[in-house]
Amino acid sequence: MNTTERERSVVVLDASYQPLNVVPFRRAIGYLLSGKATVVETDPEVPIGIELPDGTDTAPRVIAFTYSVPWMWTHDVPWNRRRMLERDNWTCAYCGGHAKTVDHVMPQSRGGGNTWMNTVAACGPCNNVKADRTPEEAHMTLLFQPRVMTRRELFKRRIAAAGVAIDWL
Ligand SMILES: [Zn+2]
Repeated sequence: MNTTERERSVVVLDASYQPLNVVPFRRAIGYLLSGKATVVETDPEVPIGIELPDGTDTAPRVIAFTYSVPWMWTHDVPWNRRRMLERDNWTCAYCGGHAKTVDHVMPQSRGGGNTWMNTVAACGPCNNVKADRTPEEAHMTLLFQPRVMTRRELFKRRIAAAGVAIDWL
């Protein structure tokens, strides 16, 4: 087993097989050795050189906690700039172009906050044109509406980014 394989990511599910997170290989092994999780899926081509408590001796790709973690599903994902841009796929809500800036639908100068429902991704030019106005005042149409990013969506994106294909998600 080489370094690349050791450092790859492992998908973590909760006890009801809902996706929770993607963790580094070493942390996944830690969960397995401490009995906090069990192996769901391994890569049979990749021996890990040790035998896990359940007899597994190949690299885990997916593991599941042995207990429920309900708080993970009831907590909202906190807003931040990067997650919001991810939510909108770095796409400008006004022209559909590549977006790197945050537009406050209700401008910050008028009390609009950094919240999921008040922010959309925007390109620099559209953001400058809109300025301190609402889309209506600026005669600009939102191509899509702001929405809350769910924890499930966030983890699905992380799982996809880790390059792990799970067709039942
Ligand atoms: Zn734009």
